[in-house]
Formats: sequence, structure tokens, C-alpha cells
Amino acid sequence: MDPLELLSKFSEAIQSKNIEIIDLSHTLGPNTPMIKVPKGHGKNPPPVSLEYISNYADDGGFSRWSTLTTAEHAGTHFDTPSHWISGQDFADGNTETIAVDRFIAPACVLDYSHEVKKNPDFILTKDHIIKWEDENGIIESGSWVLFQSGWSERFEDPDAFLNMDANGCHSPGPDPKAVKLMIERNVCGFGTETIGTDYGAASKFDPPFPLHYFMHGANKFGLASLNNLDKLPPKGSVIITPPLKIVKGSGSPLRVLALIPNS
Ligand code: MN
Repeated sequence: MDPLELLSKFSEAIQSKNIEIIDLSHTLGPNTPMIKVPKGHGKNPPPVSLEYISNYADDGGFSRWSTLTTAEHAGTHFDTPSHWISGQDFADGNTETIAVDRFIAPACVLDYSHEVKKNPDFILTKDHIIKWEDENGIIESGSWVLFQSGWSERFEDPDAFLNMDANGCHSPGPDPKAVKLMIERNVCGFGTETIGTDYGAASKFDPPFPLHYFMHGANKFGLASLNNLDKLPPKGSVIITPPLKIVKGSGSPLRVLALIPNS
């Protein structure tokens, strides 16, 4: 199809809602749960804050605006390759330098919400991914893998969202072999509903935090604290994920939009 015609049909499909837009983001604010990193893995981030610069007539003006203080990794957010030591040398690996065409890509949604309900320490393995492919077809090169776990239901309760005890964090995520298979498939990146892209107890894997280590070491992306994955089909959606263009940014909070065919 002629590109001009294609774009015009795409725009029509959005207007007529034949293509539906799903918001995969949570609201960012002072109540956003913040990650607590394991001992020996660096500092913890400050909470998100919003303070008025002006608040309409209170300050004798017509405007309301605020100073937003946030970690790059807060709420629904994007992880760039440069976020991890293994991805630090990619010239195109931070929020400024990633080619913008990499911010629109198809998504495969792997639903393990029933398993995670029974076991919050659920590990996504290579076998799970191969079984999903047997049922849904191969994960095509350039696709996101979005891990649906039902964890977003916990977002309003930071204690339940972090799910920590004396032994650390209990939340689902992939093991090293699952990550390596995704890289073999040449995925765009890996997205999750939990606070970070790695398994809760991933500091105990070899290497520690294998999703971050291998995925970013292969110049690929992460998305954390996603919402509404249950509204997406296993295949057939396209997601839009541009982070803020922060100087040498390792990531940023963002709005993630999914386009799905309206059935
Ligand atoms: Mn992150």
C-alpha cells in the first residue's frame, strides 16, 4: 500500500476506534511505590514529589505548575541499555541517543497471572517461553515480550507491590536462560508489571539481575510497572514507548500506549 494511503487509513482507524488505544501506565506521584535495592547494590531513590511553583491566585497569577522531583526509574518507566554496567558503552544506548524508530514495536504478551497468584516467587523459564511459542507462534524479531503477572493490582499498596520480608523481595521474573532465549529471538525488550524488570530475588542469580545484565548488554530495553496488560491480546498489539529525552538518561517515567485491533 502507498505510504500516504497507509498513514491516512491508520489515522482513520484511530478516529473510528477500529484501532483501540490502551494506556499501559500508572499515575506518577508522591504515592508511587519506589524500589528498595538489596544491600551492596547502591543507593535507594527518593520518593516522587510535586511542589507548586505557582497555584493560580494564591500566588497572584493565572497559572498552576509544579516542580517534579523523580528518579529516572519511578513508576511506569523505561530502562535504557546504559542503565546497566553491561550496556554502558553503546553510543545509542541512552534516552538522548536511542533511534526513535525503536520506540514503536509489536508486543507479545505472556500471561502467567494464575501461576503468580498461587506463587509470588514464580520464575519465568525458557520452557515457559517455548510453550507459549508452541501455542502462539514464534516471538518475532523486534517484538517486546510483556510478562503479564497480575502484579499491577498491587500498585496502590506499596507494601504489597514491593512484597519484601527479611529475606528480600518476593516478586516474579525471568531466570538467566529465559533472558538468553529472548535475546536469541532478538526482542526489542522485556516489560513487566513489577517494580523492576528482574525477578524479586535476582541478586541471587548468576549473574545477579540477569535481565538487566544480558538484556541491556545486548542493547535492548526494559519497561517496569506496566498496567492493563490483561487488556492486550497475546499477539497483534503495537506499543509506543518514547522516554523523556534526558541528557545521558538511563531511563525515564513515561506514558506507554498500546494499539490493539478492536474486535
Ligand atoms: Mn528501572
